[in-house]
Amino acid sequence: AVKDDRRGDIRLYEPALKVAYLARQTLSKDLESALDNDEFEMHFQPVVSLTTGLTRSFEGLIRWRHPLRGMVSPADFIPAAEETGLILPIGRWVIGQACSVARAWPEAVGIGVNLSARQFVDPQLGPSIVEALTLSGLEPSRLTLEITETALIQNDHSVLGTLNALRDIGVKISLDDFGTGYASLSYLTRFPFDTIKIDQSFVRGSLEHKNSETIVKAICDLAARLGMSTVAEGIETEAQRAMVRAAGCADGQGYLFARPMPAAEALAWLKAETLPEALRASDR
Ligand code: C2E
Ligand code: MG
Ligand code: MG
Ligand code: MG
Repeated sequence: AVKDDRRGDIRLYEPALKVAYLARQTLSKDLESALDNDEFEMHFQPVVSLTTGLTRSFEGLIRWRHPLRGMVSPADFIPAAEETGLILPIGRWVIGQACSVARAWPEAVGIGVNLSARQFVDPQLGPSIVEALTLSGLEPSRLTLEITETALIQNDHSVLGTLNALRDIGVKISLDDFGTGYASLSYLTRFPFDTIKIDQSFVRGSLEHKNSETIVKAICDLAARLGMSTVAEGIETEAQRAMVRAAGCADGQGYLFARPMPAAEALAWLKAETLPEALRASDR
C-alpha cells in the first residue's frame, strides 16, 4: 500500500515540477534580455514619521514589466536573478536609478535600496555605489542599503569588513525584515546598523496576539539602547499604526500611507506635503 501511495505521489507531482522548472527556465532566459530591453522600472514607497506623518524617505522597489506576463513581482524573479548572477547588473541598475531619482527630492528625504546576498559579496559593490553617488550628485548619507539577516548569514566571515567599508563611503545600513531570520539578536550587537526594519509579520499579528505588541516594544527598546532607529513595515490599518507608535517605533511604511508608486508620483507626493525645507529638516 505504501508503494502505491508513493507512485501516486510521483504521478501527481512530477508534471507540476516539470512545469515549474520550465517556467523558471524561460523566466531566467527572459531576464537576460530584460535590462537591455528596458523592462525594469523602480517604484517608490514612502517611509513616514509616525509622529508628524511627514515623509522621511522612500524605499525603492524594482518592478519587471514583462512583455507577455505583465508586471512580475520581485518575489518571482529576484531568486532567479540571484541564481544566474544577473542580480549583479540588475542591482547596479537599481542603485543608479534610485540615486538619480532621489536627487530631485528635498535634501532631507532619503532613499533605501534592497541588496541581495550575492551583491553583498561582490567586490564591485563599493565602487559601483560610489559611481552612482558621483554620477547623480546624491549625498551619500541620503542612501540606505537594506540587507536581510538571511543575506548576512550566508556571508558570515566577511560581514563586518564589508559593512564597515560601505559605511566608510558614508551610506547608511538597515537590517530588513528583522525578526524573520534566526540570528537576530546576535547580529544586532555585532554589526553597526543605522536602522532596524521590523518585519510586517509582527505588525500584522499585533492586534490578534498581544505577544506581537510586546515583541515590537522590546525590539524598539533594544534598538534605542543600541542607538539604532526603527521602521515598522506593512502598516495597513490605523490600529496597527497606533500600536507600533505606542510601542516606540519612530517611522512606518505600509499601504495605510501609500503603495509603491512610480518616480513621477513620488515627486508629486513630496510636493503635496508643501513643506518649507527647514521644517522638514528639523524633524529628522
Ligand atoms: P522588502 O524589502 O521587505 O519590501 C517590502 C515589501 O512589502 C514590498 O513588496 C512592498 O510593496 C510590500 N509592502 C509595503 N507595504 C505593505 C503593506 O502595507 N502590506 C503588504 N501586504 N505589503 C506591503 P515588493 O515590492 O513586492 O518586494 C518584495 C521583496 O522583493 C522586497 O521585500 C525585497 O526583499 C525584494 N526586492 C524588491 N526590490 C528589490 C531590488 O531592487 N533588489 C533586490 N535585491 N530585492 C528587491
Ligand atoms: Mg526592503
Ligand atoms: Mg522588508
Ligand atoms: Mg520583505
